Amino acid sequence: MMLVATPQHTLLVDAQFARMAEAISGKISELGQAPLSYLVNTHFHGDHVGANAYMNETLGATIVAHRNVRTRLAADSEFPRAGLPTVLGHNSLQINLGEYSLTLEHYPTAHTDGDMVVWVEGANIVHVGDLFFVDRFPFVDLNSGGTVQGYINAIAALTAKMDDDTQIVPGHGPLMNKAGYLRLHDMIIETREQVRAWHAAGADVDTMVATGLGEQWADWSWNFINEERWIRTLYNDHLAQ
Ligand SMILES: [Zn+2]
Repeated sequence: MMLVATPQHTLLVDAQFARMAEAISGKISELGQAPLSYLVNTHFHGDHVGANAYMNETLGATIVAHRNVRTRLAADSEFPRAGLPTVLGHNSLQINLGEYSLTLEHYPTAHTDGDMVVWVEGANIVHVGDLFFVDRFPFVDLNSGGTVQGYINAIAALTAKMDDDTQIVPGHGPLMNKAGYLRLHDMIIETREQVRAWHAAGADVDTMVATGLGEQWADWSWNFINEERWIRTLYNDHLAQ
């Protein structure tokens, strides 16, 4: 989550769960200088869009996202209509807030098929959403258009635009720098190589899970994407290529 506040506009990136709406609203009142103009969704997952309807109906925000985010949310009959994004980007989109200008960039088939990162121009800050899980195995949503190669491509393209002072806001984890982002990049490449080598040697996925990736990556396992789920992600993604 990220808040950009200028005298004319307040912009929020990602709305989290619905139950967080009032706490977020309190923070906006505390830190903002103007009412909430815009809410940007980095992608469609529930922990990033849950408070959309509140931000639109109660605070009056216009919701901005990649067009695939709207398509996926609209297909969910449970999702409140007031929370659907109405300003839709494809490859890129600019939002001018006066003091700051934001550039939204789409990275295709990465975490999902609707990922947008948000650069704060001139401030060397970028919110990359769930294209970054800090020092954790990432969630690549293979059922919603995500791919491991797309995820790697996104990190490679993004880090090529960064320097050592760039502040990266991840979807999950603390504020991080380029070196931390490259650790994730390298982990994905190396563990994918292992799974490919096992597959070439004729191992089945259950054997891969039983063997494990080794001590080197043990700390990357967490409750949502544990080592088994990461191996199965790499394996399923590999079979789909
Ligand atoms: Zn996500």
